[in-house]
Amino acid sequence: MNAVPLESVLLVKGTVIPRPSGQENSKMATGAVEVQAKDVQILNTCRKLPFEIKDSVKKSESLRMQYRYLDIRSAQLQYNLRLRSRMVMKMREYLCNQHGFVDVETPTLFKRTPGGAKEFLVPTQEPGKFYSLPQSPQQFKQLLMVGGLDRYFQVARCYRDEGSRPDRQPEFTQIDIEMSFVDQLGIQRLVEGLLRYSWPEEKGALPDSFPIMTYAEAMSSYGVDKPDTRFQMKITDVTAEMRVLSIGYVQEALSKSHGCVKAIRVPEGAKYLKGKALDSTLQTIRDQYKQDIMAVTVRSDGSWKSSLGRNLSEELQKVLAGVTRAKAEDLLLLAAGPLDTACNALGKLRLDLASQLEECGVPLRDPSAFHFLWVVDFPLFLPKEETPGQLESAHHPFTAPHPEDMALLYTEPAKVRSQHYDLVLNGNEVGGGSIRIHSSELQRWVLQDLLKEDVNLLSHLLEALESGAPPHGGIALGLDRLIAVIVGAQSIRDVIAFPKSFRGYDLMSNAPDYVSTEDLQSYHIQVTPKE
Ligand code: ASP
Repeated sequence: MNAVPLESVLLVKGTVIPRPSGQENSKMATGAVEVQAKDVQILNTCRKLPFEIKDSVKKSESLRMQYRYLDIRSAQLQYNLRLRSRMVMKMREYLCNQHGFVDVETPTLFKRTPGGAKEFLVPTQEPGKFYSLPQSPQQFKQLLMVGGLDRYFQVARCYRDEGSRPDRQPEFTQIDIEMSFVDQLGIQRLVEGLLRYSWPEEKGALPDSFPIMTYAEAMSSYGVDKPDTRFQMKITDVTAEMRVLSIGYVQEALSKSHGCVKAIRVPEGAKYLKGKALDSTLQTIRDQYKQDIMAVTVRSDGSWKSSLGRNLSEELQKVLAGVTRAKAEDLLLLAAGPLDTACNALGKLRLDLASQLEECGVPLRDPSAFHFLWVVDFPLFLPKEETPGQLESAHHPFTAPHPEDMALLYTEPAKVRSQHYDLVLNGNEVGGGSIRIHSSELQRWVLQDLLKEDVNLLSHLLEALESGAPPHGGIALGLDRLIAVIVGAQSIRDVIAFPKSFRGYDLMSNAPDYVSTEDLQSYHIQVTPKE
């Protein structure tokens, strides 16, 4: 029997007896007993495995993905996948058994939908005709409201062909929800209750309700629409104080519309972040955002050092210290430029420097803390990336305008806020939704006149909205990301049983794969070799 390799499968018949005194192992669930074997059979001998199933054995992620079925035996993946299953079960219970939701499956063979992400195409045997895999069940869930299923929910698989993007998957799972006769607060309260109910006990209790922050406040204080509120280092406005500086580019920045000077104070930044490492972090941000960053350090004796030289008079130091609360050993970073750029650049620095400080042992973010936050009052439209003169939906084209901004819709649409809300957890977007447009006329106008979309693609939805559609709204929670944050995983791949690699490949089976010319023929498809 000594020769049976580890991980083999045995059938042991015998008697369960207590372990001899002193040989118990309190760390094992079965550590108090052992089996006195009468008969042992080998059901399956395990071959030599590509890696040992031990948490202490380091293995590359590609090897783990190639032998995913072995990796799933690891304690970490067992925990992650079991916790995920437990939470989904509780969510079903909460929604279906306690709140009258109906679990409905919607098609995954669908057609192209306007706006949003690029979709995967599925060829058909009819020449030139393709299905699309839906980026979310958005249209179906709205159609279910028209159909009178006034509380819908689904653990929905979604598909987005967005190429290699860090920590994204071409297919992922949403907890998809839609309700009739609901407002923003109604959805928020439902989701808060849902998370409280399904939250793993070992992760501590959640508050009764989550804080709410406007998009404008998130952008100006954190430089992102998904602020990590576990730590301070917020962006402060120092425009008024810095106006006195006679530095050319500061004056130039201030002379332009939305020109400002913003600052973040990095506590103990002067002590831990310096030299080449800091220079290179600042340079990366300068290049990425085309935004200059000025660094000011407060020495341990309280004196200030910066590239601003004599411009930073003692008087100005005092004023700045008053606004930013800078003290000895802190680092101040200042950005003079257009409001959005200055805030975005400092927002990114805030996160990068927080990680660097943590690496130096400064505890900023409690890894066991969970800070949920609602971000609301997003703009309805944003300038299109490729053609900034045109608008695109900030969420999706079915999102309703903010009732207070209705009048602006036809005159200054770029200024209209929407009834879109995001759920943020520790700086990650873990959910997003909106109250929908339920007037066919308004929906047609938004699609056709504002977004220049082909409304024929959505004639079924427009007709449905004319058929007695109730007011409705909903949300989708990104299940993979939510679980990843809860278990503290580095990547969403660590909470998905069979994930794709960064480049969208299944390293175990080698999907996607080539198809023979004969098979392609039935789809009327010819592949031209890459040049
Ligand atoms: N379908 C939306 C999304 O995937 C969520 C929603 O608006 O309910 O982001």
